[in-house]
Amino acid sequence: MSELAERFETHDPGEKQVAEKIRCDACPVMCYISDGRTGACDRYGNVGGRIVRMDPLTILDHAAETGAVVVPFVAEGEEWDGELVNTGRRFVTAIGAGTTYPDYKPAPFIVSQEVEGVDLVTVVTEGIFSYCGVKVKIDTDRHLGPETATVRAAGEAIGHVTTGEYGSQMLSLGGVHHLTGGSKAEGRATCDALLNLCNRKPVELTIDGGATVIVEAGKPPVIDGQLEHRMRVGCGSATIGMFATQWRDLVDEVVVVDDHITGVVSEHQAGKVLGWQDTGIKIIGRRSTPGRYFKVSEPGLGWGGTSISDPLSILGEWNAKKGARPGLSLLMVSTTGEQFAYYELDDELKPVQKPFPERLQKSVGLIEDNCEPALCTVLFVGGAGGSLRAGVTENPVNLTRSVQGLTTYVTVGGAPVYVWPGGGITLMVDVTRVPEGAFGYVPTPALVAPIEFTLRRDDYVRLGGYEAEIRSVDDILAKGGEYLNPRRGTGAPASNPWPPLAQLRRAASNGSG
Ligand code: SF4
Repeated sequence: MSELAERFETHDPGEKQVAEKIRCDACPVMCYISDGRTGACDRYGNVGGRIVRMDPLTILDHAAETGAVVVPFVAEGEEWDGELVNTGRRFVTAIGAGTTYPDYKPAPFIVSQEVEGVDLVTVVTEGIFSYCGVKVKIDTDRHLGPETATVRAAGEAIGHVTTGEYGSQMLSLGGVHHLTGGSKAEGRATCDALLNLCNRKPVELTIDGGATVIVEAGKPPVIDGQLEHRMRVGCGSATIGMFATQWRDLVDEVVVVDDHITGVVSEHQAGKVLGWQDTGIKIIGRRSTPGRYFKVSEPGLGWGGTSISDPLSILGEWNAKKGARPGLSLLMVSTTGEQFAYYELDDELKPVQKPFPERLQKSVGLIEDNCEPALCTVLFVGGAGGSLRAGVTENPVNLTRSVQGLTTYVTVGGAPVYVWPGGGITLMVDVTRVPEGAFGYVPTPALVAPIEFTLRRDDYVRLGGYEAEIRSVDDILAKGGEYLNPRRGTGAPASNPWPPLAQLRRAASNGSG
């Protein structure tokens, strides 16, 4: 049982209040917490009879933009040491901000700051996301499992394989059905896996009828115990298109083996344009267009994402009438250049493997050189169109309209997000752009993610924002907030821009809002 699951087991939200216990009301679980202990999610504790958010509130310094420099904590009542000078480039993230529950209360921090002459307000809260999941992109040619196959963590169903993309396999994990619609164990395993994936920790996933994969955001996948090194340069046909000139006059025929589109240079348009001669080759598969073949094999962990280890198994009889002859040379290579072999036809027109010739080494190396490193990408997807909007404005739909109209800029821990078009606020963020350890959970189960809404102060007031709650950054640094936790400064990742002035100015000039 995981650490998280154990905490779920031991926690009893229904227990009666005992004199020395106090109630945390930051989520629907409503833990009663003894002095010196933390609640079920470990995010809040009882410190001397007061509910305290245990992690510091994180403030990004965009003047430093190192992503590494951390200024020492400032506890309640202490003076901020001024390490983050007032450059106008600080950003109060929601990491450690706390959640106000129920949501009709204003968000924990509503911060005003003038940046380059524009008065901006950032509304900061840790959102509880019952509707959330992750999309995982795994750069590999290898077949991980059939589309729609169930993906499991700790034996529980937590998602499924979805449509593959160019050079990558895709998983869709989490979502409200796995979090809340199955057994308790399924909800816990889903929450546990999502939390670890979002916090960039390795998670082992097994796919029904497929592979076991260790996924860690920003790291190469480990598939059935093997570390993946590189993603494909392209499909078999694209590889032929890219490298046909490299092979000209060095070999008579080239086959790029690929589970999706196997390419044959003598028949391919690229080969034809270069004057390649017919070779009488026969590929066992479904011919799509000249030199492009589908379904040469079953998907698997072999050459080019097929199940084959002997590439000759995709070849039929060679046809002398169409150009086959003894001595004809053949290169077979996979889409990553990791597998390659050289053959010559004997007097019976059977390919016989020969030592790999020096003259072809460079072209195979070029395929490898053109492959990008294989990585796992984890995107957190959450629906912020629900009740947390009420902590931003008294009229929640105004926030939705403002986000959709690009008048309000949304970030997760200071990282830019993609907001899906259409209704609601469905956002997507690359977890490697969010400061480490930013995600939490509550045992309902749901994920907790930092979320910030930044907009012009006049727009904020217009959409029904809590004007009386607006505070300055200096005041927040000096006094903190309701949850009494220390503040800490850290250099902002250089890839995360602040302020989003360009967008907000553009929106203002478009007259939206
Ligand atoms: S689970 Fe966490 S946030 Fe919810 S009541 Fe308990 S300590 Fe507070």
